[in-house]
Amino acid sequence: MAPLRHGQGGDYLGDQDAIETMVRDAPRAIYELEHMGVPFSRTRQGLIAQRNFGGHTRDYGKKPVKRACHAADHTGRVVLDTLYDQCLRHEVTFYAEHYVLSLVLEKDRCAGVVVYNLATGELSFLRAKAVLLAAGGCGKVYRTTSNGFATTGEVFDLAYRSGIPFRTWSSSSSIPRGFTPSAS
Ligand SMILES: Cc1cc2nc3c(=O)[nH]c(=O)nc-3n(C[C@H](O)[C@H](O)[C@H](O)COP(=O)(O)OP(=O)(O)OC[C@H]3O[C@@H](n4cnc5c(N)ncnc54)[C@H](O)[C@@H]3O)c2cc1C
Repeated sequence: MAPLRHGQGGDYLGDQDAIETMVRDAPRAIYELEHMGVPFSRTRQGLIAQRNFGGHTRDYGKKPVKRACHAADHTGRVVLDTLYDQCLRHEVTFYAEHYVLSLVLEKDRCAGVVVYNLATGELSFLRAKAVLLAAGGCGKVYRTTSNGFATTGEVFDLAYRSGIPFRTWSSSSSIPRGFTPSAS
């Protein structure tokens, strides 16, 4: 599989190594999700169905190809539900409605986060062996956007203030979908 072909969809702005990892790992991830219980749509032969999506093409855009595995038209929700079920099964603790305010560094490593409980206003320190930030993009910096209210990019700021280096900043997710009010 030639990784550069897959970078083409992003005009080669994406992290090519990350793209290659994602492309190579995708089939395994789909099977893993299926084994967890995601009810993917099927072909008549009983295989996982694939359909057209986004810019999926072959030969540098010459022909459309069906690459997207899906569960009817509610793929995102069923993946979310299945992963949530698995988390409950494995007794993962969720701190819902807790907002991360800062990272706590001990020497050179992140030892946890300070969170704000939105329901009670209480501040707590959550100690952690490892901290993975997955707080979405920063689409809310646009006035007109379809992004959720929490998509402010604040976590980029708190990581930056903690001296954590960034890479491929331009590839952060920010889909500013929306119609700008027109003057006419
Ligand atoms: C309208 C719209 C339609 C889309 N349609 C598609 C589509 O059809 N197919 C597709 O593949 N992609 C689609 N996308 C893009 C896709 O939704 C995003 O790329 C994806 O959700 C990003 O996932 P994520 O886990 O990085 O971040 P998110 O899903 O944004 O999750 C980030 C989470 O972090 C939380 N958070 C943020 N800051 C903090 C903080 N300080 N403390 C604690 N929690 C925090 C947020 O509340 C949120 O729950 C769409 C996006 C939009 C806006």
